[in-house]
Amino acid sequence: MKLGCSYFGNRILRHAREDMRELLECGCTFVVHTFSENDLTFCRDAVADLVAMSRELGLETHIDPWGVGKVFGGEAFTNFGLLHPETLQMVSDGRPAAACCPNHPQFRAFMREWTDAAAATGADVLFWDEPHFYLPHWMGGRPNTWGCCCAVCRQRFEEMFGKPMPDQPTEEVEQFKERCIIEFLSELIAYGHEKGCRNCLCVLPHGDIEKTTSDWNRFAAIPHLDIFGTDPYWLAANKDLGYVEAHSRLVKQVCDAHGLEAQVWLQGFRVPAGREPELAQACDAMVAAGVRNIAVWGFDACNHLSWIRPANPALAWQTIKDTFRRLARLG
Ligand SMILES: [Zn+2]
Repeated sequence: MKLGCSYFGNRILRHAREDMRELLECGCTFVVHTFSENDLTFCRDAVADLVAMSRELGLETHIDPWGVGKVFGGEAFTNFGLLHPETLQMVSDGRPAAACCPNHPQFRAFMREWTDAAAATGADVLFWDEPHFYLPHWMGGRPNTWGCCCAVCRQRFEEMFGKPMPDQPTEEVEQFKERCIIEFLSELIAYGHEKGCRNCLCVLPHGDIEKTTSDWNRFAAIPHLDIFGTDPYWLAANKDLGYVEAHSRLVKQVCDAHGLEAQVWLQGFRVPAGREPELAQACDAMVAAGVRNIAVWGFDACNHLSWIRPANPALAWQTIKDTFRRLARLG
């Protein structure tokens, strides 16, 4: 059983050491360190120190392009898009999104720089976190719009489909975006592999797993991918534990078909009062689906990221740790 936890919000080594010991003590085998654009600019060596310390203590280390370009998941902001506004995604209302375009060659080059720096920290695994195009219903999104329809995307669409990009988010536009994200990831994953890192991909869960047209087999087929999974945050999605079960089964099935390790993330944040027992039940659902790599977002139940702080952070974190200790004994 591999158990992991994300870690962010602190770059003070002596405090982080105590926290890594707490992770080891509850059975964690790996830690996911975030490596945002802020870190890339101001804390490169400090993050490398965190990675080295975590490895010395015996944790496998994953590194996450947290919020980079706002193409990857996470609260961290992008600066690259401000410095290079020509790389921003264009939205159907004629205004740019606060997110870079994964098709833009300059952003691609920046992601290679990020990968160089991430590999240089000494991390074992590159954790490709929720790569996505502009989401109209996510932070900074504008309802009833869609993207990206920048000049680069329009040209790429025409090459792919032999006709101009429509002015509506048709099924073909959705297919286009998925194919582009897969191309983008394929380039980065091959590059990360060249740099000597293993690669883990976490895709956003299907909102409606029964009706989706997205086929995760296409993601799982990316060469040099080692671990594949998703983060079915059922409380955030306002779903029940069936959401976790269905996604865990799908991840396991896709991973088995492609010889990958299956990973599923546990929602360890914004846990409403009284629903803490579901943290243990969600983990049990993952294990029942055959998943043997479980990670939680994030350390201390995200008490310090107060917009997603659980109603009872101490109880949520204690429940997570107790559950992890129990799972660790499964071997
Ligand atoms: Zn674009």
